[in-house]
Parts: sequence; C-alpha cells; structure tokens
Amino acid sequence: MIEIKDLHKSYKTGSNSLHVLKGINFNVAEGELVSIMGSSGSGKSTLLNILGMLDEADSGTYTLDNVPIKNLNEKIAARYRNKFLGFIFQSFNLINYKTALDNVALPLYYQGMKRKERLERAMAYLDKVGLTAWAQHHPNELSGGQKQRVAIARALASDPKVLLADEPTGALDTKTSYEVMDLIQKINEEGRTILIVTHEHDIAEMTKRIVNLKDGVIIDDKKVDQVKAMQYV
Ligand code: ADP
Ligand code: MG
Repeated sequence: MIEIKDLHKSYKTGSNSLHVLKGINFNVAEGELVSIMGSSGSGKSTLLNILGMLDEADSGTYTLDNVPIKNLNEKIAARYRNKFLGFIFQSFNLINYKTALDNVALPLYYQGMKRKERLERAMAYLDKVGLTAWAQHHPNELSGGQKQRVAIARALASDPKVLLADEPTGALDTKTSYEVMDLIQKINEEGRTILIVTHEHDIAEMTKRIVNLKDGVIIDDKKVDQVKAMQYV
C-alpha cells in the first residue's frame, strides 16, 4: 500500500538547514495497523505529512497504492488525497459552527455528493463511532473523546484506503485514549490500513507493529507479539 525508499527531508530556515529525515525506508501492506514512535522532534510529523501528501520529500521515492507520489500538481494531489487518505489530528480540527453531522458530511460535500446522500452517509459513520444521539450537537458541546470520534467518522466518510493519525490521543486522558484506540483497532479489523504517530508506549502497544524513529532514522521496526486490548492496558 505504502512504499518508501531512502527518503530525505531538510527544513531550510534562513541560511540554516535542519536535516530531519535521513534516509527512511519502510513499507506498509494493506490492512496493517502501524505506529510510528519517537520522542518529540524525531521527525514523526514530518514523515506523516509526506505520507499524507501535505509536504514533499527532498529525495527518495514514495509510492501510494502503486501511484508514484512526486511532482503532482495541486489539483491532482488534492484528488489523490481525497481518494486515498483520511486524516486524524491531535486537536481534532473540527469546525466549531457546524454540527457533528455536518462536520462528518463536509468532505462528501467537497466530493460533490448530493445533500441527502451525504447526510445519510455521515449519519451512518456517526453511528459507527457511537454518536448517533450527538449528531445535531456542536463540537463545544462534546467531550474530547467524542470530538475525536467525530473526527474519525469524518476521516472515514470518504472511504479512504489509509487512515493517518498524528498523536490522535495526545489531547485525551488515559481512559479516553484507550477508548479511541479501541475504536481504531475495530476499524482496522475491518481491513482498513492505519498509521498512527505517537510518543506513548502504551498507545503504540495497541497497534500491531511499532516503527521506532530516532533523530530522523528508523532504529527499530517490529511486530507486536501481543497487541494490547483496552481492558489490558
Ligand atoms: P515530531 O513530530 O517527531 O515531534 P517533527 O517532524 O514535527 O517532529 O519535527 C522534526 C524537527 O523538524 C524538529 O526539530 C522541528 O523543530 C523541525 N521542524 C518541523 N517542521 C518544521 C518547519 N516547517 N520548518 C522548520 N523546522 C521544522
Ligand atoms: Mg509531531
């Protein structure tokens, strides 16, 4: 699903250059649930942003579902992003003046789906994350865990091949974090490929594979022998 070869990325600020990704090689097969672990500043978000086509590497290759991702114009990049990728962020990134239902339906609006159909579809995804009763509420009436569930429903609404989550539990308390990870595990069990960036061990242990990033290099990439379930973490 994802193939990355010898990826490098530097940030230039003035006359300085910061080499953040120093030759990343890794592949993700369809249906995997992978965490990218590393301390703050190790390059996790930089890598995820490249995978999410929000940024480009300086060198190396990236292939997503057999499509080489390089030098795409913004229109084509946006189309691939919509078709292939769903995003989940630490800060939820919901629109405050829209209801939960309308937040989930928004990506479908951009796809040109008719109103009735997109609201039905959005409702089905809200149901999937257990928030049917909250459809008409606004984000400021929801708890952090509920907001992240809405964000997950929104990410799923366009039926992407891959879900990319940058510290999805970073703003949540421990119990709520495990509940959100439990939901992510269930979505993965339906066959969806999911990549999660985290700096928390207990969260990484709820995925099936942990890729350890340190100073822009993968220092370890291992299968999790016993994937933790919510009641055991
Ligand atoms: P992580 O997500 O693991 O905390 P990041 O990928 O966000 O790490 O950042 C890696 C390094 O790159 C950090 O030192 C950060 O300060 C720097 N960095 C990130 N984004 C930019 C940017 N847009 N411009 C300059 N430096 C950046
Ligand atoms: Mg980060």
